[in-house]
Amino acid sequence: MKRFFCVVFLTVFLFTSCTVTYESNTYFALDTFISTNLPSGTAVDIEGYIRSLEALISKTDKNSEISRINENVRCTVSHDVASLLSFALEISEKTNGAFDVTCGAVSSLWDFRSDTPRPPSHEDIKKNLQNVGYYGIITDGDTSVEKASNDVKIDLGGIGKGYIAEKCVDRLHENGVDSGFISLGGNIAVVGKKENGDGWNVALRDPFRQNETVGNIVMESGYLSVSGDYERYFEYEGEKYHHIIDPKTGYPAVNELASVAVLCDNGALADALSTALFVMGLDGAMQFYKDGIYTFEAVCITKNGDVYTTDGINEKFKLTSENFIMK
Ligand code: AMP
Ligand code: MG
Repeated sequence: MKRFFCVVFLTVFLFTSCTVTYESNTYFALDTFISTNLPSGTAVDIEGYIRSLEALISKTDKNSEISRINENVRCTVSHDVASLLSFALEISEKTNGAFDVTCGAVSSLWDFRSDTPRPPSHEDIKKNLQNVGYYGIITDGDTSVEKASNDVKIDLGGIGKGYIAEKCVDRLHENGVDSGFISLGGNIAVVGKKENGDGWNVALRDPFRQNETVGNIVMESGYLSVSGDYERYFEYEGEKYHHIIDPKTGYPAVNELASVAVLCDNGALADALSTALFVMGLDGAMQFYKDGIYTFEAVCITKNGDVYTTDGINEKFKLTSENFIMK
């Protein structure tokens, strides 16, 4: 049995070429590598802020507000957490459960950290699947949360990093910082253009070849989130099991997609939609884009190396690898 715990370290690679001084900082938080590239002298403590938000929404920290929700049928949380949950529930409904914030009852059965990982039993998945469904929890979006049963468990793993990315950008803007970027695992947040007025050249990671890239997206602002089957997975008896779960089956979503990148001006939405589109598969993802429920753009990469883009991203995305074909 082979085991991989490939936390995405820069799913997206960033190249800078301007002369204005920026200061880079890298550390581990949110179960991934964080890197920031901000104008030298920026006094805002982004690392401390990220750690304080992590303490609020971590599912492994017993004292977090998410643990409080998971351990009680009824509880009161901060307004920030209730409104994030409310938004996560809205996205769960609008994506018809492809993204489902209540997938915790099954996602927690998949242990990607174990030294000897193996898939959970079919019985366990079947039993716990009954407790997955966004209609099993309600919040007033202010401070109160109520669940249909205490077996309903939430998992913010598919939206939390994008949410925190946006909170960081807001905090930087409030403090007069309007240039730079932050990378939280597969989530890039652009604080603002380079000081010379150019956008940042963000390279999409090749899902099949480590340290290679597929192409570049120029970003002047906004959020880019990538979900892929190579990010966190293990192999067991010749089968690969990755961390993006189809909430309808309780198993990793299997379709033609290897990765999905979503670009939009809301960090939490970019994060949740990259997860959702991955679960939907190529046709479902493109149909969801056409339905126009949310404003976003996407790059979908299939397992056989085809690259599909939505209409509004074509002038921003450039394919650079000969291993892929634009469709
Ligand atoms: P991402 O890397 O943003 O696609 O998020 C994957 C993480 O989100 C997983 O590690 C789980 O914690 C959680 N997750 C997995 N599948 C789903 C899903 N279908 N809906 C919501 N969250 C999910
Ligand atoms: Mg996500």
